[in-house]
Amino acid sequence: MPEINDIKISKNFYLKDFQCPCCKKVIIHPSLLDEMEKLSAMVKGKIKITSGYRCEKHNKEVGGVPNSKHMKGLACDITATDLQEVYNIAKKLKFSFVKLDEKKKYIHMEV
Ligand SMILES: [Zn+2]
Ligand SMILES: [Zn+2]
Repeated sequence: MPEINDIKISKNFYLKDFQCPCCKKVIIHPSLLDEMEKLSAMVKGKIKITSGYRCEKHNKEVGGVPNSKHMKGLACDITATDLQEVYNIAKKLKFSFVKLDEKKKYIHMEV
């Protein structure tokens, strides 16, 4: 038996890449997947999603803002070896918001 959400949804991503780690629920906006797919292609797959969809409980646990776009399938966080390079590329795509957290070493993006 394959794992739940072990479903290829684009060239570089599986549904499980975006699922909530606590309950495995997942919603994802097609525009977020589109932009993530473009980004992944441009950096040759060298990114890792660290947070995609979050249920309300998980969002609280990780200290997300109450209205977090992670709870609406409109945001995700990634890590990469060269965060600055990935950030510069992400800024050129159609994300509505991209933020580099240099301290915690991740990039948050929204559509
Ligand atoms: Zn959850
Ligand atoms: Zn985030």
